[in-house]
Amino acid sequence: NKQVILKNYVEGFPKETDMLVKASSISLKVEEGSNAILVKNLYLSCDPYMRARMSFNQDPDFSSFTPGSPIEGFGVAKVVDSGHPEFKKGDLVWGTTGWEEYSLIKNPQGLFKIHHTDVPLSYYTGILGMPGMTAWAGFYEICAPKKGEYIYVSAASGAVGQLVGQFAKLMGCYVVGSAGSREKVWLIPMQSQLVELLKNKFGFDDAFNYKEENDLDAALKRCFPEGIDIYFEHVGGKMLDAVLLNMRLHGRIAACGMISQYNLSQPEGVHNLMNVVYKRIRMEGFVVFDYFPQYSRFLDAVLPYIREGKVVYVEDVADGLENAPAALVGLFSGRNVGKQLVVVSRE
Ligand code: NDP
Repeated sequence: NKQVILKNYVEGFPKETDMLVKASSISLKVEEGSNAILVKNLYLSCDPYMRARMSFNQDPDFSSFTPGSPIEGFGVAKVVDSGHPEFKKGDLVWGTTGWEEYSLIKNPQGLFKIHHTDVPLSYYTGILGMPGMTAWAGFYEICAPKKGEYIYVSAASGAVGQLVGQFAKLMGCYVVGSAGSREKVWLIPMQSQLVELLKNKFGFDDAFNYKEENDLDAALKRCFPEGIDIYFEHVGGKMLDAVLLNMRLHGRIAACGMISQYNLSQPEGVHNLMNVVYKRIRMEGFVVFDYFPQYSRFLDAVLPYIREGKVVYVEDVADGLENAPAALVGLFSGRNVGKQLVVVSRE
């Protein structure tokens, strides 16, 4: 059973060498009388929140991984043996699993069964899994969007950002996204054509590469001469500071994440917070787990978008557990183009 082990708690930027890929043995049968299930992991999701679990912390939502043990994350898996009355061999599930070929899940209650397989199974790590729920709850519930509003999304080509942008376009908003490379913002090869990822593929109205802008405030003023109604926050720090200068009266900020801060020992100061008062901004944080009970409502909304081609989804696929540490670490340098996932096995 090949596994990705966390060697020790991490400080600063995570590195591939913080993890070790090694084999161990596992029984492929569930002990008699137990409620556990044994799954074969197919696809694993690389998510920024996993960084918090690599450090020592006592946060009940993001409890530390155990050094010397396989790390955990969201994934798609197939049940190979079950002691639980609600799961049977052959069921496909998504939810928290181990970064290894096979996992024994002692309490499978939190897993979602996969019933719709006419869409790619890997989508349950992204558009039909946790990041999809994040975009959906964050945009429709937290942002309270209205047709015609001006929306800005940072980390716009990523797992969550590409969906927020497309949901906002479906609602008839004006949407601008930023990302950190030419490849993401401008031309990438797709089906033997060169397409602009944010604008052509996802339909954003405008896009910029924040790493090529000396002055973020000026970049935002160029893209939003009349200001921003809704900011979908993924980045924090300097980006948030510049956005605060460009919000419109009664604007809303959905505080989804602040990835620029995750590897810093001292969080970067935000200086323009007083604009929350001047501009009567509503800034609201949210955590996707609170919305998991609404999963079937989410599927009813998003599955038709996929089937009708109204929403597309770009994935960045790493092949094999050997490449999983690099894929996870790559999130923090922006190496991923689209949703980063790891294929452990395709069946
Ligand atoms: P992405 O697929 O967007 O991958 C992360 C991206 O963040 C990178 O590709 C990179 O893109 C950008 N990034 C990395 N480091 C920095 C930095 N120092 N400054 C600016 N940008 C950086 O990840 P997700 O879509 O999965 O997650 C996006 C955000 O949403 C994260 O903050 C995450 O923590 C948060 N989140 C929150 C949830 C919640 O429940 N509240 C649930 C899921 C995600 P680029 O090229 O743009 O630099």
